[in-house]
Order: sequence, then structure tokens, then C-alpha cells
Amino acid sequence: MKKAPSGAIQQRFRSALRQAEHSCHEGANAFPGRGKAGPPISERGAREMERYVILGSGAAGKRAAEMIRKGKPDAEVLLISDEPDPFYFRPMLGEFLARGMKTEQIRSRDREKLEALGVRILTGVRATSVSAKKQEVALAGGDRIRFDRLLVATGRKTARPKMAGTDARGVVFLDALEDALKIAALAKGASSAVVVGSSIPALDVLRGLRGQGLACTLLVPEERFWPGVLDSVASSILEKRLSQEKIDVLKSTGLREILSADGRLEGVTTTAGDRIRTDLLVLAAPQVAHLDFLDPAEFALDRGVVVDDSLRTRHETIFAAGDAAQAPLADGKATVPQPGWLNAWRQGNVAGRNMIGKEAAYKGVLSLRMKAFDLDVVCLGLSDPSPGPTVREESGGYPYEELPHIYKKLTYEKGRVAGAVFVGDVAEAGKVEHWIRQGFTVDQCEKKVLDQMFQPRIITAPALGALCPVCKFQIQVGEGEREGEIVTCPACGFEFRLEQMPNGVFRAVAAG
Ligand SMILES: Cc1cc2nc3c(=O)[nH]c(=O)nc-3n(C[C@H](O)[C@H](O)[C@H](O)COP(=O)(O)OP(=O)(O)OC[C@H]3O[C@@H](n4cnc5c(N)ncnc54)[C@H](O)[C@@H]3O)c2cc1C
Repeated sequence: MKKAPSGAIQQRFRSALRQAEHSCHEGANAFPGRGKAGPPISERGAREMERYVILGSGAAGKRAAEMIRKGKPDAEVLLISDEPDPFYFRPMLGEFLARGMKTEQIRSRDREKLEALGVRILTGVRATSVSAKKQEVALAGGDRIRFDRLLVATGRKTARPKMAGTDARGVVFLDALEDALKIAALAKGASSAVVVGSSIPALDVLRGLRGQGLACTLLVPEERFWPGVLDSVASSILEKRLSQEKIDVLKSTGLREILSADGRLEGVTTTAGDRIRTDLLVLAAPQVAHLDFLDPAEFALDRGVVVDDSLRTRHETIFAAGDAAQAPLADGKATVPQPGWLNAWRQGNVAGRNMIGKEAAYKGVLSLRMKAFDLDVVCLGLSDPSPGPTVREESGGYPYEELPHIYKKLTYEKGRVAGAVFVGDVAEAGKVEHWIRQGFTVDQCEKKVLDQMFQPRIITAPALGALCPVCKFQIQVGEGEREGEIVTCPACGFEFRLEQMPNGVFRAVAAG
């Protein structure tokens, strides 16, 4: 099983490391002073060690690298990313724009943490193909790296529409820090923006652009936000929140044409036939997995790389995790993409363990965790079901007069908890996710948690948790915790401040 890299490959590999170092010194790095790939690996060490290669250094890749090095301190772990410096909090990009933050303020400490564990990091280098047979990854520039185990954790990005004008100045996407920097620069001379799509990045960029004072229009191609995920009540609360922010939401309306002159954006026409003048156009949907380097003849590719519950692809030595993967749900009914920071982190955890020979099963629950301006939103499992004789929904005393933004719903299917929606107060979401994963009947659910969920004015189980503003991990908030306290998220390491809502439940807001 163990493969010793040849001398020639070692040579090329070292040159790839040098190239990466060079590109960082050339200023490709958004965080000056960071981004070194580390010293060249020693010939002797490399021959003796098993090599784990991870493509993508987002939540999934980083977590897997950590798990592998912790479980196998002698293994060589190489993390490769095409971003010049991927160590920042991606879900903070909207806040970064809204508050005009510096890149340092959204930097994570992951590089230091991983380097301290001995993980080799190669940035600014793209994988161009994978050969399962040769156990080799090809990199842009022609270098090839052999692996004993490979993890594909290359995430998703916004699809580039086949439409004239997408290359005009003023047309942008928001997938990465470099996009946010571009948007920040363009927003300075702009007064209006059109955002297309109802993805999480779309809502994030709206937050950013409203923070910069731009007049914003959102084109939502569907009749409401995320049908099948957000139900109609939650969608209308979200819509109201956006209209409070003076965002013009045009539902059932898509983009027909980009209008530009001399390479500059001038406006758009919509599928409803309207013509809107705008300085900035943000294309924020649909999101597609980053998998152009995998051969469909070698891998089962659907809306992600199809994996089993150990997150293994059809090849024994190749795994996939995070937004690029398509993994089975806990109930075994379907294999679906489960995008989102926390799912990626959890999948990285499971994949990392399986890659070093420990047995771990991924039990996925469909979920959406986000913040629309200050509104926390969590949808779990069967959150917007089609009506049927076996489906029952419960939303307690909603609407609550003095808490109009709070909405919570449980869905039962055949008597078992199958889904949930939380808007405005997500304190019980972590508990409910556990119930869904376990397929609990209502009798198995903790009564005081159910009581609190449906009577949000009466706190019966105060120590349930707040949502991390970055990764949306459900953080346990102890009874001793106080308003204003600074807490560190155990999943992503972000530091945030606790704020108490009118009903006494805590929510987390970015500190500073
Ligand atoms: C603006 C914004 C806001 C978001 N807000 C939220 C939120 O509120 N809640 C939430 O749950 N999620 C949110 N997300 C989504 C979340 O960031 C992702 O779900 C999460 O980062 C996925 O992690 P990942 O490890 O699978 O992939 P990613 O974090 O996407 O990392 C993949 C990495 O692989 C790199 N890569 C791609 N192809 C190659 C290649 N061929 N070779 C080498 N490297 C490659 C990519 O450039 C990237 O650096 C947001 C995303 C954006 C863009």
C-alpha cells in the first residue's frame, strides 16, 4: 500500500513548493508575511511516511488534516489550495464588506495551528487532474504528487452563466476573499447594485452592500426564498427583514440580459421585462461543486462526488468531504449535497478518521444555517414538506406579538421528528438536530426543550446554545454566562460576544 515518491517527483514537488513560496513573496498573498509553504520535505522522511494529500483548505480540508495528523503524527499531510491565502473565515465576507473590515480581522489562526501540527501547506496551486490508478494528483504547471490517501475537499463556487456581459467591469461574484476585495473597491464609486439569486452568499453580499450605503435590488428567480427548505412563513419573515433594510426584493424574477458599453456594466433586464440601471451586478447563484479536475469516467459525479457514509468515493484510497461531496443522509434514503460550513467541518472530521483507518460513519441531516442581517435562521431535515397523511407540523403559539421575528416549527413524519425551522431564536436547534438524526418520537424528546421551543417567552432550558456567527455551530451557553461575555467557537475558533435577546435567550454577535 505504501508508495515511495520517486526522486524525479520529489524534485518537481520541491519546485512546486518553491513556486508557491515565490508566489507569496510576489504579493499574491492577501495577508502579507504569511503563506510560506514550509521547508522542503526530506527525502528520507518522505520515503518512510505515508502521504495524505488534501485538495482544498476550507472547513473540510483543514479539519481532515488536523484529524489525520492527530491520529497519525508520523504521517505526511499535504494540504493544497488554489487560493493564495485561504486562511480566513469565508462566511464573514458579508460582514467584512458591511463593516469595511481589514483582511486581518477575518483571518483565522488555522495556518499556525496546522503548521504546529506538522501539516505541509501549499497555496496558490490548483489541482488539474487525479489519477486513481496511479494514485497521483497533477498540479497546474505540470507537477505530479503521489498519494497513499487523497481527500477531495474543493468546495463550491458560483456557476458562471453563459451570457454576454459577464466580463464587464462591475459584474462580480462572491466566493472568496479576493472577490470581496474586488467588490469593496467597486462599491466605492457605486450607488446601486443588483444581486441575482437567493443563495447564502447573495444575502451576505446584500448585507455588505447595504453597509456601504448602496441601493440594492435582489432578483429571486423562485416564488419565495428556498422552496423546499424555508417554508412560506419563514420566507415571508426573511422578506420583511430585507424590506426593513430597504432592499427591493423582486420574486419570480431572474436575469435576462446584462447591459454594458465599452466593457462597463450599465444595467440589466429582468425576465419580467424590467430594465434596471445599476453600477454593480453580483451573480450569486447557482452554486456548483468545484470538480472540473475529476474525470467523470473515473468518479461518480452528480451534484458532487458521490461518497458512502465513510465518505469514500468508489476508489478505496480516495475520499471526498464538504461542499464538493454528495453524501448519504442519516436515514439512508438519499445521497445529496449537504453544503454549509458546519457540515463541511463534520465531514472533514469523519473523512480524516476513515483515511487513517479508524471507522467513522457520517450521519447527515439536510441543513441550512445562516444569518440574514441580524436574523439567525436554521432549517433541518424535512423543513418544508409537501402535505400528506403521514406528515404533521407544529409551530406552537406563533406569531408571538412582542417577538415578531421568532418562528419555530417541528415536522413529524410517521410520528418521528423529521425536520425543523428556526428563525430569530435558534436556541434549541442543536438538540432538535440530534432528535432528527436519531429519529426520535415525540415521547423521546425532552419536554422542557419542547416547551421552550414553542413558548419562547418562557425560558425553561436556558443553557441550550447560540449560533456561532461564522460557522453556525450551536455553542453551548452555560447558565453562568453573561451578556457581553466573549466566547470562542470550538469548531471554527472565532471569538464572539454574547448578546441577550428580549426573551432572555443568548445570541452570538461578532466581537469588536
Ligand atoms: C459569502 C459566503 C457566506 C457564507 N455564509 C455561510 C453561512 O452563513 N453558513 C454556512 O453554513 N455556510 C456559509 N457559506 C458556505 C461555507 O463557506 C461553505 O459551505 C464552506 O466553506 C464549505 O467548506 P469546504 O471545505 O467544503 O469548501 P471551501 O471552504 O469552499 O474550500 C474549498 C477550497 O478548495 C479550493 N479549490 C477549489 N478547486 C481547487 C483545485 N482544483 N485545486 C486546489 N484547490 C482548489 C477553493 O479555492 C477553496 O479554497 C458561505 C459562503 C460564502 C462564499
